[in-house]
Amino acid sequence: MKKNILALALILALLAGAVLLLSNIEGRAPASAAASAPSSFQPSADRGISLAVETQTPPAQTESEKTPRYIFVMIGDGMGKGQRGLAREYLKLKTGDKSAELAMDTLPVKGEVSTASANSNVTDSAASGTALSTGCKTNNGMLAVSPDGEKLETIMEKAKEQGMSTGVITTTSVTDATPAAFCVHCDSRALENDIAEAYLKSGIDFIAGGGACHFLPASYSGGDDTWGDPLYSARTDSRDLFGEFAGEGYKTFCGAEGWREFKEYGPAPGSKVFAAFSNISLPFELDRINEGMDSPTLSQITQKAISSLESDPDGFVLMVEGARIDHACHYNDAASAAYETLAFDDAVKTAYDFYAQHPEETLILVTADHETGGLGLKSDPDLSVLDGVRVSVQGRLKFAYNGDRAAFYKYISDNLGLKSLSASEKKKIKTALDFADKKKTDRNLYSSYDPPAIAACGIVSDRAGIGWTAFSHTGTNVPLTAAGWESARFSGLHGNDGIGRLLFEIVGLKRE
Ligand SMILES: [Zn+2]
Repeated sequence: MKKNILALALILALLAGAVLLLSNIEGRAPASAAASAPSSFQPSADRGISLAVETQTPPAQTESEKTPRYIFVMIGDGMGKGQRGLAREYLKLKTGDKSAELAMDTLPVKGEVSTASANSNVTDSAASGTALSTGCKTNNGMLAVSPDGEKLETIMEKAKEQGMSTGVITTTSVTDATPAAFCVHCDSRALENDIAEAYLKSGIDFIAGGGACHFLPASYSGGDDTWGDPLYSARTDSRDLFGEFAGEGYKTFCGAEGWREFKEYGPAPGSKVFAAFSNISLPFELDRINEGMDSPTLSQITQKAISSLESDPDGFVLMVEGARIDHACHYNDAASAAYETLAFDDAVKTAYDFYAQHPEETLILVTADHETGGLGLKSDPDLSVLDGVRVSVQGRLKFAYNGDRAAFYKYISDNLGLKSLSASEKKKIKTALDFADKKKTDRNLYSSYDPPAIAACGIVSDRAGIGWTAFSHTGTNVPLTAAGWESARFSGLHGNDGIGRLLFEIVGLKRE
């Protein structure tokens, strides 16, 4: 008898839960129910953010509050669970706070995304960006077109139809696959000069990152980019796309000088911005910090994008990409993977601070397009090893060996913290230097990269207790976290196209 009563109580409780869940799925739940943090929540100034989960009666909704006005789609390129775990553990070490969390890990809704493309278990950023921006899977390399080449409407185009403002920002070229998948339609991600031209017609209100070389005329010579390198053109024609953007009413910013102006720029309501601060990618965080480069962080660009777009009473959709997590992981560069993920997390925090001021009207989604490198932490990692690393592999280390072995050993001592090497470590470096001297390689050991650089940074990973399984993307699922308006819709496991369809639906909701 007692058992029967208990069973009945359990069934009733389950039914009540199911009704609550259904009302949420149907979109009838108030905006701040369940998934949203209470409106009293304020992220603390330090990184030890904690979310209070006290229940509150949600405020009454007015018609105009039934759609989110501010939508952030934040993509850590190549950022799987391993990258988030590495950054979190390194953050604990750096802050001395054993309970430190990434801002992105404190978002209350947790989910997971499968990433296969239409033609491969392992996606590239073009196909995955397309799935997220259009809700449809396509083949690797294709941007917002179906495998047959038909145009797929993007959430940015839908946002425009709805009268909202739009923005894309990235730490690599704005013509690169992830931002391009949100803004243009193209059969091949490789056609970056064509993609640059297509941006002119995209109507995107705020575009910022790198990639100036695709917008400058072939004959260009002039200032430097934010690495301190001379700006150059990768175009074969005389089109000056910076000038053409200005003709379309954009305020433009080019290279290092552009960055200095951008810092001081106070966007007027309704203004449009086109900014490319470097020839291709922005500097890696490690190089920017250690060399004191005057170059923007993703968080600084995010802040400027918010202040430019927020004046639109219809709201905005802003895509923010931390692109260089992927670049670091292709090289199995553990230190840069940690720094790039932390810099991306700072941008999430900037968005979260904005959310805290507009909790009923903001949706923040943080995920990845795929994982890169098959990164995992071993038991008892010693991440203090990463403190000795002062250079990125792709930005600096790969250029360090020029045939002078003594100079290379000194370089990795000074810049990777490899002051003394064990016999097996010495053997690894010697093998790599031999390959480099003979201009040969071993693709299993070094992929297509510079053998001495890969060998040296491999020793850093081994000492730190960080394992890698590939120099490429992997097909593992990636985490998703979310906060704000109806964010519970994103909990659980989704395909990347499913995430895109949910976004499309939300952007397309009837607006008052
Ligand atoms: Zn990649």
